[in-house]
Amino acid sequence: MIKSYVTGFPRIGEKRELKRALEGLWAGKEGFSEENLLSVAKTLKNRHWQYQKDAEISAISVNDFSFYDLMLDSIVAFGAVPPRFANLSGREQYFACARGNKTGVAMEMTKWFNTNYHYIVPELSAETTFKLDASKILAEYEEAKAAGVKGKVNLIGPITFLALSKTTDGSCPFKNLNALVAEYKKLLELLSTLDDEVLVQFDEPIFATDKNEENLLSVIGKVYNELVEAAGNVKVVFMTYFEHALKAVAEVAKTKIYGIGLDFIHGKRNFEALETIKNSHLTLFAGVIDGRNIWKSNIDEKVNLVREISEKIGGKDFYVGPSCSLLHVPYALKYEEKLNSEVKSWLSFAVEKLDEIKIITKLANGVALNAVESKIYEENKAAVKTRATSNLIHSSSVQNRVKNLVKFEREDKFEDRIKIQRESLNYGILPTTTIGSFPQTVELRVLRQNFKKGEIDAAAYEAGIKKYIDDCVKFQEDIGLDVLVHGEPERNDMVEYFGEQIEGYAFSENGWVQSYGSRCVKPPLLFGDVSRPKAMTVEWMKYAQSRTNRIMKGMLTGPVTMLNWSFVRDDLPRSEVAKQLALCIFDEIADLQNAGIRIIQVDEAAFKEGYPLRAENIPAYEKFAVDCFKLSVSSAEPKTQIHTHMCYSEFNDIIKTIEAMDADVISIETARSGNELLKIFKSVGYKQEVGPGVYDIHSPRVPSTDEIVRQIRALLEVLPKEQLWINPDCGLKTRKWEEVEPSLKNMVEAVKIVRNS
Ligand code: GLN
Ligand code: ZN
Repeated sequence: MIKSYVTGFPRIGEKRELKRALEGLWAGKEGFSEENLLSVAKTLKNRHWQYQKDAEISAISVNDFSFYDLMLDSIVAFGAVPPRFANLSGREQYFACARGNKTGVAMEMTKWFNTNYHYIVPELSAETTFKLDASKILAEYEEAKAAGVKGKVNLIGPITFLALSKTTDGSCPFKNLNALVAEYKKLLELLSTLDDEVLVQFDEPIFATDKNEENLLSVIGKVYNELVEAAGNVKVVFMTYFEHALKAVAEVAKTKIYGIGLDFIHGKRNFEALETIKNSHLTLFAGVIDGRNIWKSNIDEKVNLVREISEKIGGKDFYVGPSCSLLHVPYALKYEEKLNSEVKSWLSFAVEKLDEIKIITKLANGVALNAVESKIYEENKAAVKTRATSNLIHSSSVQNRVKNLVKFEREDKFEDRIKIQRESLNYGILPTTTIGSFPQTVELRVLRQNFKKGEIDAAAYEAGIKKYIDDCVKFQEDIGLDVLVHGEPERNDMVEYFGEQIEGYAFSENGWVQSYGSRCVKPPLLFGDVSRPKAMTVEWMKYAQSRTNRIMKGMLTGPVTMLNWSFVRDDLPRSEVAKQLALCIFDEIADLQNAGIRIIQVDEAAFKEGYPLRAENIPAYEKFAVDCFKLSVSSAEPKTQIHTHMCYSEFNDIIKTIEAMDADVISIETARSGNELLKIFKSVGYKQEVGPGVYDIHSPRVPSTDEIVRQIRALLEVLPKEQLWINPDCGLKTRKWEEVEPSLKNMVEAVKIVRNS
């Protein structure tokens, strides 16, 4: 018998109801009381359980709801709130941890593995004490029960919790292991009183990474045997996702843990674990539906996959579900009214994925489908067919172009290019520039919105954008920057702007995915062969260049970043998609160059984000990412200077890859670390030019001239002056003009002082 499960369900609400309730409450808006928040939460939880009930899911998730983040919920549940918020309580304390308050800065937030979801990082120390408060967890279980759901309780596992923690005193987070496990045991005892049998899912995705793997593996047995013994009627599921967890399976099999969750989409090597599972007492929770992407599954293929797994585990009972929590995909297609209907027919958001799980389970069990299910199944088969042949997806001209490529990189060596560039661009030592965007004002946002809604015509829009460019140019000339930018007024987002102009990309109306707290992003859908019908930035750049005699830097988003921030088609290897994207940028560079633009920056803000979780996959990623960046800039003549920008400071592990990208200049985010992190560039003998970022743009603070002078001198201790560019550490779009004006003035002033000394 095959049953079904859901690893977790999104919680922000299909109309982003939770976002509105939270932001209204935080802003103190009328009608947005705490009661309102609670009632919105109740509605959402019940709706999400209903969806899972409708899909006849056997193990429905509870305690996957959160007002901000599930790691934060765990921090609070185990009483591990940092001392600076200890005097607070309840929801006030909870939101203070997440967002900071007058006296305490917010807790750190960082990316959840290789997703775009951000969790709150636990802050521990040797002094941390834990004290269980299970009220939220127990209440949610009872709430589900009242709705007729005997839920599977979702918890963050203790090992992942500690592995993702930081300490404020340099101690090892695992010093806290025994104390924390003691509280988990109390929690299991409480959970065991809820029903005669309770399924509890412990998320342990840390075991799908290489991070400290051997050490962490060695504690599985001790921790989990203690937990399992604490409550006999609790069935513990050890849940992993995002990659294979082969070594963990071997350890888990030695314990009394009831079940193990494995991702068969993003961790193909998990198939190698099936033999162990066959020969153990473990019940498998097999993630067979992609929880990270939005394409319809091929139901027939999935049924075969489920049968294959079943066979390999010797016909034992098991569960099928999504490869990870559905948190990482949007809710439901029913709100998509404007999407091309053919593209829409290929999509499956969270609610549609539940249907897929239901149908796959039924077919694999040999159970007949009812009329509604049969219709979905037929539509699925039709979508599989059209996706294979549709000319919306398949363009022979794009495919042939990729196939017939002969040139993959710039011909001249950096050493030769840079001589030509220095001569023709004629910049002195410590050239000054910025990363591209200037403040995105309210007027600018309104201008773009009004144009989108058709409330103003193209001429009025163009005039508004040009006015902003004029102001940017004038300001930059006035303060004496060397290499200018146009300020990016026409873009609200560095991927969307290009995606909208590239064929093969579509945009959903309501495809929101939680990024952190109340914030959501709406990743573009890269559904087919991509190509650039016409120039995307050339008119704006030409205009900007026409307003100044100084060098105007063109500004593009790189192919790797486009890929990493989109939902990407799964019917073509990512490396192939990346090549197609690279050719779009290739063409744009050629056109910019013809239009007289002499420096072009190709931003790769998300280059590092795409890194695989397992080292075994890193070389392949690095190769395709570097190749595709190099291909994208290979239309640049030797005299055209290629810049890139990355929002990182830590290059120790990837410096050789960065060097291999062969950009003439790279700007990075080292401002907050002095010159420490720059040293790697020196130690590997990095030749290309570097703009390390002389001040931090992530805070409203205006840096003084003195401070920047000191920073530049510190940089000069590491790299020679001929190699250094001077710039802020990232784009300025989130800052205000009042901050940007004095900051950049001080920056230029500081460079003058250093140049003259
Ligand atoms: N050119 C972009 C900007 O200045 C780069 C943004 C980024 O690095 N995230 O806004
Ligand atoms: Zn940046």
